[in-house]
Amino acid sequence: LEHKQEYLTDNFGRVHNYLRISLTEHCNLRCFYCMPEEGLAIRNKETYLTASEIIKTAKALTAIGVNKIRLTGGEPLIRKEFTEIATELSRLPIELALTTNGILVHKHIEFFKEIGLTNINISLDSLDPNKNLLITKRDYFKQIRDNIALLIENGIVPKLNVVVMRNINDNEIIDFIELTKLSSIDVRFIEFMPFNGNKWTLDKCFSFDEIIHAVENHYGRNHFKTIDDGPNSTSKNFRVKDYKGSFGIISSITKPFCEGCNRIRLTADGKLKNCLFSSSEFDMLTPLREGKEILPVLKNCLKNKKEVRAGILPKDKNIELLELNRSMISIGG
Ligand code: SF4
Repeated sequence: LEHKQEYLTDNFGRVHNYLRISLTEHCNLRCFYCMPEEGLAIRNKETYLTASEIIKTAKALTAIGVNKIRLTGGEPLIRKEFTEIATELSRLPIELALTTNGILVHKHIEFFKEIGLTNINISLDSLDPNKNLLITKRDYFKQIRDNIALLIENGIVPKLNVVVMRNINDNEIIDFIELTKLSSIDVRFIEFMPFNGNKWTLDKCFSFDEIIHAVENHYGRNHFKTIDDGPNSTSKNFRVKDYKGSFGIISSITKPFCEGCNRIRLTADGKLKNCLFSSSEFDMLTPLREGKEILPVLKNCLKNKKEVRAGILPKDKNIELLELNRSMISIGG
């Protein structure tokens, strides 16, 4: 395995043992920061990886040392073969995880328990039904809230992912943290990031420091503490005194955390990406279909990985570069 791990190592010595697989570019919500307003072009089905191609890729990467796989999208639960793919992956020696918007969780709850899928992140940006409708353009708030409760009832405590946007939901930070008072839920605040078509500007990004400031103002400086982040954590984590759950901040914009990056991403159309912000892509689909080796593609992908955030810094002159990247919905977050 050690020898094979060289395929997973980049020029900076980072070992990439965490694979994020996007199962679809489509979604049952229309969050403006994720999907361009005009929607995504409809593409031929053949441009996407089939279920068996996804499973084959996952097995090949697991055999050389990948030990965690997260299914993302779009919305992964709308993919028809979701259960087929997840069942196969759950048999691999990996930690299987899922990021979902929560809408279809009730249809899969028994299945999650059956295959032991307990690492589930739910994306939810507001606790206010009207604001939710404004952000997602669909009226599913109640269903999502009920499904979060359903997961907890079934012993699966999800993490909540909240993208914090100035003048949209920055006034809900404390409301979200209050959810951690009685439940061991983890809330993670994510700085608003630029992707193709999402009209990002630096001033819409509510920063790490501003979030901490809001928390200090409310709870007092001595009433919340840093907790252990774990080796490859993307978030700085905290707990309010005597609260059961915790909260974290993912600060990709103002404080990138790339030293410990162990992520590779596989898009629904079979492209490997070495960074969330990188516009370069490495084609896996063609060699898979031609019956060729895919590990050289992985090696090439990681040899081209930059040290920090695809080499792009949040200076005005670089904003155009960031927008060259895909929209979030077609990367898989
Ligand atoms: S910005 Fe890119 S390199 Fe940095 S942690 Fe995210 S994916 Fe990894």
